[in-house]
Amino acid sequence: MDFGFTEEQLMLQDVARRIAQEKIAPSAEHFDRLGEFPVDNMRMLGENGLMGIEVPEEYGGAGMDPIAYVLAMIEIAAGDAAHSTIMSVNNSLFCNGILLNGTEAQKQKYVRAIAEGREIGAFALTEPQSGSDATAMRCRAVKQADGSYVVNGKKSWITSGPVCKYIVLFAMSTPELGARGITAFLIDTANPGFHRGKTEPKLGIRASATCEIEFQDYVVAAEDVLGAEGQGFKIAMGVLDAGRIGIASQAIGIARAAYEATLEYVKERKAFGAAIGTFQMTQAKIADMKCKLDAALLLTLRAAWVKGQGQRFSNEAAIAKLTASEAAMWITHQAVQIHGGMGYSKEMPLERYFRDAKITEIYEGTSEIQRLVIARNETGLR
Ligand SMILES: Cc1cc2nc3c(=O)[nH]c(=O)nc-3n(C[C@H](O)[C@H](O)[C@H](O)COP(=O)(O)OP(=O)(O)OC[C@H]3O[C@@H](n4cnc5c(N)ncnc54)[C@H](O)[C@@H]3O)c2cc1C
Repeated sequence: MDFGFTEEQLMLQDVARRIAQEKIAPSAEHFDRLGEFPVDNMRMLGENGLMGIEVPEEYGGAGMDPIAYVLAMIEIAAGDAAHSTIMSVNNSLFCNGILLNGTEAQKQKYVRAIAEGREIGAFALTEPQSGSDATAMRCRAVKQADGSYVVNGKKSWITSGPVCKYIVLFAMSTPELGARGITAFLIDTANPGFHRGKTEPKLGIRASATCEIEFQDYVVAAEDVLGAEGQGFKIAMGVLDAGRIGIASQAIGIARAAYEATLEYVKERKAFGAAIGTFQMTQAKIADMKCKLDAALLLTLRAAWVKGQGQRFSNEAAIAKLTASEAAMWITHQAVQIHGGMGYSKEMPLERYFRDAKITEIYEGTSEIQRLVIARNETGLR
């Protein structure tokens, strides 16, 4: 493994850092408080190549590699986690799935619009009764004589659901086949039969709009089937492997922001006549924060490196996501504690980092599911 970053990777990291620190971080409190989707900021990310980092230039992307994606995601998440959530769905869950499985026409139509930041994409797998166990989905796609499908059913917790133009949807086309009966479809939300539910009020990442969506006799043309019929579950799991590298990066960005704020605070804040950073109990926390942050970063870079080599990276991605998300939760918890009352105040971003960190342990596979993936990979047992 070689972690000497290329000039191109460092340039993208620099662009992301500048946007995050100059535009995103100053507006993060506003969007979090109002729970408002940051339309203009997201367009800016698209215009700067950050909505399709691994998308080849011929489809409107930046044509870069997974390491560049990790570096950029960390910077945006350090500015604001909600922005990085929207960015990760567009990059990992939407574009990646179509790039790997789509036709040339699908890539030109769907990927280009999202990678250029003109439209927002979404990924719809979860349903009210099926999250970790995606095979329990009920959303039904019935094939018609002309090769089109009629879709009926609900999907819940859809990131960017309230604002997205296009969706990668997973629906059951042959229920008796279970996982092998799931098919992936490309949805245009402007078509009849698509409905959005109310936006979910959330603990964190409040600027990333999330809602339930519903399909009522929505017709998907044959050319909008993604991959072959029955391949949907495989497509979803492959896309989530890549997505986990993005969520690990998001967790690192949140944790780094909390850690850096803490480093400043322990030097300035005094108690009992000394800076709190001189107390050994504070020093132990700082050392543990730094170790967890670096471990998460190295494991995430490893996962991205393995992916970039074209090798199977499912285990590395799960290890990175589990380690980074639990590190983010722990680090933000300690950061609030070290800030004392100010850590609890909305006048500082610490409480937001703490709230935002939690989601990284839940979506794109909970920590329990990551442990299950890792243990199965390690033992070979099912
Ligand atoms: C803010 C937010 C945004 C989201 N965005 C999207 C999105 O864009 N698209 C999308 O499709 N979904 C999205 N989700 C859904 C998310 O991926 C699911 O919430 C997650 O996968 C967990 O599913 P669940 O909520 O149904 O929990 P459940 O699956 O019901 O799990 C409940 C608990 O049981 C545990 N559990 C379940 N199975 C096992 C097992 N076998 N062994 C041990 N423990 C187990 C879980 O770890 C968890 O602790 C989002 C969720 C949130 C909160």
